Amino acid sequence: MSAPRRNGRPAGPGVPLGRFFGVPVYLAPSWVFIALIITVSYQELVTKQVPDISQAGAYAVAFMFAVLLALSLLAHELGHTAVSLAFGMPVRRVVIFLLGGVSEIEKEPERPAEEYLVAIAGPLVSLLLAGISAAALPAASPGSVTRVVLYLLVGSNLAVAVFNLLPGLPLDGGRLLRAGVWQLSRSRLTGTRAGAWGGRAVAALVVLAALATIEPSDGPGLGNVILAGLLSVFIWVGASQSLTAATVTSRLPRLRIGELVRPALEVPPDLPVAEALRRAWATQVRALVVVDTTGRPRAIVSEAHVMAVPEARRPWTPVADVARPLEPGLTLSAALAGEALLDAFRKAPASEYLVVGQDGHTVGVLSAVDVARVLQEGRLPSGVPA
Ligand SMILES: [Zn+2]
Repeated sequence: MSAPRRNGRPAGPGVPLGRFFGVPVYLAPSWVFIALIITVSYQELVTKQVPDISQAGAYAVAFMFAVLLALSLLAHELGHTAVSLAFGMPVRRVVIFLLGGVSEIEKEPERPAEEYLVAIAGPLVSLLLAGISAAALPAASPGSVTRVVLYLLVGSNLAVAVFNLLPGLPLDGGRLLRAGVWQLSRSRLTGTRAGAWGGRAVAALVVLAALATIEPSDGPGLGNVILAGLLSVFIWVGASQSLTAATVTSRLPRLRIGELVRPALEVPPDLPVAEALRRAWATQVRALVVVDTTGRPRAIVSEAHVMAVPEARRPWTPVADVARPLEPGLTLSAALAGEALLDAFRKAPASEYLVVGQDGHTVGVLSAVDVARVLQEGRLPSGVPA
């Protein structure tokens, strides 16, 4: 599996395993859970296949298989990562977790061919590992630990490849489907929509398949249904996120500060909130900028903070008390648009920004609420003078 950028936490998502071409690799704590399930459920198979093994030995071999499976998943992800890096798409990190692995790629591919090659690299690595394990099988004597481990690796790597090739986002097969539809329609958004709906269909089929194969007397059958349920939710959520992200991204070109900026009234810091609001309404202005005695902007009045001041207190509260001082990053150029504007938001998250022209004079205030509305609803907010 591979996933585009998501808003990350600064802390690592688990135990750091090392770096691959500078990309940090982590093992999430949830992996321990799946390793336990594998160890417990496969020790029986090991006991059957290796007749002279002790009980402890069978558990040890089953656990070794869990570790080798994690390494197989890691190799699959490093396949994605290597191709991404080769195309100049940075990878934030690789995480091995409960249900598999994720390569967090920081950039969307620019061409369908790039998308296709990044997506296919993981399953190809899995197929290669299955092939190598299968080729080594005849060399291992029947009833030996080596043979049973190789046999498990053939099956598991094949399963990883086939499952990931199911045609729905966020699985690799979904990315292949997206690349294909993107190529045909010449629209990445159309490709993503196809991949996301494929993902929802795959999510539903995974649950149906698990329910169809369950037998009432079968204990492990229930475990399969639970696992299938988890996978299904994971795929459904991932598909929906891809769809939302694609829709938002498709609206980015519509983002222009010039159309969103609210004209601002300049006020001195000690002016009472009530009087500032009266002046704003009188001049039909929806933003207030606090300036010092030389006329330089010092702070932006926060709409939310103003609303939080009770009506009765507004004549006694200076605007400086409900304003955010202008830190670096809160002043934006009126020329910013699209992705560059979002990057500026990410660097300095705030509810309001001061917008300045090329010569540094104040153009007005940009409200994050207005930007969010354009991205979510695809239209300019009402009441904002164009
Ligand atoms: Zn993958």
